[in-house]
Amino acid sequence: MSDVRQHAEEIREQFSEHLDLTTDDVEERLDNLVNEYRVPLEEARRSVVSHYLDEAGLERDDIRSGGGGGTEQVNVEDVTEDEQWLGLTAKVVDLWEPRSDAVGQVGLLGDETGTIKFTKWADSDLPALEEGAVYRFGNLVSDEYQGDYSVKLNRTTTIEEVEEDIEVGDDSAEVEGALVDIQSGSGLIKRCPEDDCTRVLQNGRCSEHGEVEGEFDLRIKGVIDDGTEVHKVIFDKEATEELTGIGLQEAQDMAMDALDTTVVAEEMREQTLGLYYRVAGPTMGRYLLVNEMERLAGPTDAEEVLIKARSM
Ligand SMILES: [Zn+2]
Repeated sequence: MSDVRQHAEEIREQFSEHLDLTTDDVEERLDNLVNEYRVPLEEARRSVVSHYLDEAGLERDDIRSGGGGGTEQVNVEDVTEDEQWLGLTAKVVDLWEPRSDAVGQVGLLGDETGTIKFTKWADSDLPALEEGAVYRFGNLVSDEYQGDYSVKLNRTTTIEEVEEDIEVGDDSAEVEGALVDIQSGSGLIKRCPEDDCTRVLQNGRCSEHGEVEGEFDLRIKGVIDDGTEVHKVIFDKEATEELTGIGLQEAQDMAMDALDTTVVAEEMREQTLGLYYRVAGPTMGRYLLVNEMERLAGPTDAEEVLIKARSM
């Protein structure tokens, strides 16, 4: 999603009780200012908000400005509707690599009833969430995408760390099928060495810490087709090594010889694509994190499987 669209969505949320806006309408207004008139995004946002305040006959203080965190507290499993304002008390189970500069943090929250993905905007001025800590959140907004729910932290979200631990509900899963894709960001990667960062570097840069001396790691972001649907699975370093037989040192040697890190993912693709596996592990949002795997006997013609998978 573009930055403009994310701002548009936040503005629509701010006015959700006052005006019947669509994200498209707001986006068009913002986009016009930003891309047609070259107004900086923040300024464009203020201008668009002012416009809607006028339209609704409101003062700035009348729209959602946070502070109260007065939204109803629910459990993760109860988040089953789009665009609901809600509160959660949940543990940060995992933090992932933000894909966009507009996203400050992205990861997984969990409570006794399960886990849910969260997104925190970079410009939300909220404190950094720490993995393993438990927080009481107010003014989150639910979001639905292709049947999966997530929550978004925005400028109005309240966050209060609480001194309790939560036993996060187990939602592990098992998938059996052909490995039909290994996605970009797989193979030999470099992570930021800063404390608790571990973001994957892009061209030697961490989105948070800038240029850093990265630390090598192995990872595979794979897609397994069980014949009915596809599942996204992540193999960490240990699982990648078990899957491919290529360890971290060997991968570094391969990259060094070729002066190119992408040869590692290429080799991994050649060794595994089209083969059948049973994998199991906890699910994190739409991903299954593999911590057990078994190679299965499958059709011997891997190429045929891939052709079939691509045509689905
Ligand atoms: Zn970093």
